[in-house]
Amino acid sequence: MTGTEENPVATARALTQATRAVVDAAVKQGAVTTKNGALIDDHQVLTERLAYLATQIRAAEDLVAYVERVSDDLQGRLALAYAAEVAHATRSQVESGWDDFGLTEADIAPLHTAEARAAIRRGMSEEAIRAIGRQMIATAGVNNCELEDEVATLTRSVARDFAKGVVAPVAQEIHRKDLMIPDSIINAFSAQGFFGSSIPEEYGGTGMGDLPMVIITEELSAASLAAAGSLSTRPEILIKALLAGGTEEQRQQWLPRIAAGEELVAIAVTEPNIGSDVASLQTKAEPAEHNGVRGWRINGAKAWSTFSGRATVIAMLVRTDLDPASGSRGLSLFMVQKPAYDGHTWRYEQPEGGVISGTANPTPGYRGMHSFTIAIDNLFVPHTNLVGGDTGINKGFYLQMGGFAAGRLQTGGRGIGVAQAALEKVCQYVVQRSQFGLPLSEYQLTQYKIGLMAVRIAAARQATYASARGFSTRAVEPSMAKLLACDIAGDVTREAQLLHGGWGYSEEDPISRYVVDALVLPIFEGVKPTLELKVIGRAILGG
Ligand SMILES: Cc1cc2nc3c(=O)[nH]c(=O)nc-3n(C[C@H](O)[C@H](O)[C@H](O)COP(=O)(O)OP(=O)(O)OC[C@H]3O[C@@H](n4cnc5c(N)ncnc54)[C@H](O)[C@@H]3O)c2cc1C
Repeated sequence: MTGTEENPVATARALTQATRAVVDAAVKQGAVTTKNGALIDDHQVLTERLAYLATQIRAAEDLVAYVERVSDDLQGRLALAYAAEVAHATRSQVESGWDDFGLTEADIAPLHTAEARAAIRRGMSEEAIRAIGRQMIATAGVNNCELEDEVATLTRSVARDFAKGVVAPVAQEIHRKDLMIPDSIINAFSAQGFFGSSIPEEYGGTGMGDLPMVIITEELSAASLAAAGSLSTRPEILIKALLAGGTEEQRQQWLPRIAAGEELVAIAVTEPNIGSDVASLQTKAEPAEHNGVRGWRINGAKAWSTFSGRATVIAMLVRTDLDPASGSRGLSLFMVQKPAYDGHTWRYEQPEGGVISGTANPTPGYRGMHSFTIAIDNLFVPHTNLVGGDTGINKGFYLQMGGFAAGRLQTGGRGIGVAQAALEKVCQYVVQRSQFGLPLSEYQLTQYKIGLMAVRIAAARQATYASARGFSTRAVEPSMAKLLACDIAGDVTREAQLLHGGWGYSEEDPISRYVVDALVLPIFEGVKPTLELKVIGRAILGG
């Protein structure tokens, strides 16, 4: 890198370029070591490290690129601080394990120049981060970053009003009493058109695209992860699967109803004994006929199917090629219709003779939708409900994975929303609470901790927005955004809780809800190690 320019954005850009050179060298060597990803399981720790470094530098680049476009003083300082943090993390990771990375001192040289070292010191300087913290506290942590898009800006304002007016007043009660989201929220959510934000207009959606969808999610998740922010995750997964592989008739039939909130969607992939290893799913569907209608009979069990009680359609991935060796090439995606139920248990006996029932798993957080273990006994599903019809047979895995990419993007938005809620809450608390004669906000350590929260949230936010702008079901960036945003949500909520002291441990304070809600984020839509090894690792090492 050249020169430690006064302009923080130019310095941040130079720093990301230097870091990128080191990360690229490490990934290139990693591809050799793992034989283009084929031997990842023989090098899991290396792959996990590379996936994380690649994710962090990508986020730093997204944040710097954003600031270059909008030229905003605060965002510029956030960008420099994050670029410095990532450069430092990369340098120390690689330096402490040259042999593991297969690199030499020369490979890390870009981060050892006098300019790079000075830029890292400048970006990570305690005073610079404390200044960001003070600014956050003065503005109550509120996020009004430039969105560069009129529709997105309007969407944020509408979603924020909705979150504060409709969701926030009931969020804590839903959490504490483990209630189902009330119809009032679901109906108002539908009326706003939130379910259809990423559905094209020709199929009854608003066609606003993926960025507004992420922004709606972010704003609603700040009010409640489970009672609003996650409402569109499930439809998003099915929407993308239908758009990618549904027949035209299925798109015409289902998408307008999903957009209108007339069909509420749940997803059932996970089974009691199978989670990450989706290709090994055992619940099976066999060809059948009922009253002259061609269909399938499904038998087996699913686990953790969120919202499947209240849902009217469950997108269920099951084995249609009963030869276990068929693996991922033997699965199909069905749309299983059922009545809506509110409670923690439900049971539906079909006129066709099949039975499906669910029992909610008790959880410390993510309350409002309930996540069910499901038993499926001889359930009849018409062939018209197999996504893709005849051509969809045994193609379900690929449709589901494409849908998961959308779910991961959306979960990036969920992570930022929860982290943002914690940031705003702690900014309010530290000015109200005094100890040793001073408000907590006056202490240097408080300012520093809050400054760091803001830096990391800004990076996760721009990484998620960038992957929404360029969304494709095959892209790795949504997975990177998900990985980073969910980790940051965990870190930020716990730090914010600590700043509340004992009161942050009280169930009465929403900060304790943010902590338990954030805990689930790295688990679903691809548990963190699986996301790192099987999705991001494969993508970056596979060339
Ligand atoms: C609240 C909640 C809601 C959910 N909602 C849904 C839903 O609506 N629909 C749905 O289908 N699922 C849902 N899930 C399930 C979720 O997607 C799974 O929990 C997730 O995919 C991980 O699967 P698992 O729990 O079986 O963990 P496992 O696959 O058993 O993994 C556990 C751990 O084992 C290790 N591990 C596994 N494989 C490897 C490997 N190859 N190499 C190294 N380490 C490995 C990792 O450390 C991993 O974290 C939900 C889960 C929760 C908690």
